[in-house]
Amino acid sequence: MKNEVLELRREGLYCPAGDFYIDPRGNVARAVITHAHSDHGRPGHRSYLCSDSCKSLLKIRIGKDSPVESLAFGKRTKIGDAWVSFHPAGHILGSAQIRVEVRGRVWVVSGDYKPQADQTCEPFELVQCDGFVSECTFGLPVYRWLPETEIHQQINQWWAENSGENRPSLLFSYSLGKAQRVLAGLNKEIGPIFVHSAVYPFLEYYAQAGIKLPQVTKIERGQDYAFEDSMIIAPPAVEDSTWTRNFRSARKGFASGWMAVRGARRRRNLDRGFILSDHADWNGLIEVIKGTGAEEIQVTHGNGDALTRYLREQGINCSVLAGASMRGEEEA
Ligand SMILES: [Zn+2]
Ligand SMILES: [Zn+2]
Repeated sequence: MKNEVLELRREGLYCPAGDFYIDPRGNVARAVITHAHSDHGRPGHRSYLCSDSCKSLLKIRIGKDSPVESLAFGKRTKIGDAWVSFHPAGHILGSAQIRVEVRGRVWVVSGDYKPQADQTCEPFELVQCDGFVSECTFGLPVYRWLPETEIHQQINQWWAENSGENRPSLLFSYSLGKAQRVLAGLNKEIGPIFVHSAVYPFLEYYAQAGIKLPQVTKIERGQDYAFEDSMIIAPPAVEDSTWTRNFRSARKGFASGWMAVRGARRRRNLDRGFILSDHADWNGLIEVIKGTGAEEIQVTHGNGDALTRYLREQGINCSVLAGASMRGEEEA
């Protein structure tokens, strides 16, 4: 990919007019960041620019003394000869699409996005542009999400059933974004809520952003707790660890878009899978891509072949952004 606004380099998407990279790897002078997931906001750059509500979350990821500046959603700033602004991506708190305008040409880099409503982050904003770089993590027609409230109901029902049998409910959810989304939907009448220490540090910034989450207890090493009727939220990274083996009687679940894949739950030895994703589903991708009015689409993140074929059949100029495929914590 190379056009008047963006080109693909070894470190990632580069804007020559502004001399900055978007979500780069390596060590660059100026990184503009879509959101605080580890495959987008990486440590080691000499300066960072992100949205206001992304800033604190990003610093948890890359170090609290990192040189991070931030910008309010919708506000324009000039970097070199490029105008840059952030627009909500609806993926996690602070997640942004990055709009770059150079000599009247506008490209938008989506980062990860989700047009579906979500009470834990700013709602997705459709931005008109000439070119759109879209993620396509779930770029197959089999991926269709139910409304979030239905998934919250499923989770609460499962929790209530387990509590009735005096068994804790251990629900694996990615520590940033998914865990908070799950927490926001829990019915705290059912029992106490505990979180793994990897989830805990993000919660105060959600509270600061005005997002209502239920009271939780952080699980500390060497402490005794009564877990019988509790909900425990932990990152999938600890699924096979000694930490998890301590919860012998627990029923285990996983909240992820990947639970839509046949056999995924059984392969991981889980009692339940909840199909809850922070990414656009097939219809969401198509709606957004068409809605931008862009004449050129580049897809990244996941296998874009099916989506590319579909859009071309619709007369939309689309190609896979070669070499830019990434897999993040939620895509792993
Ligand atoms: Zn992400
Ligand atoms: Zn990602």
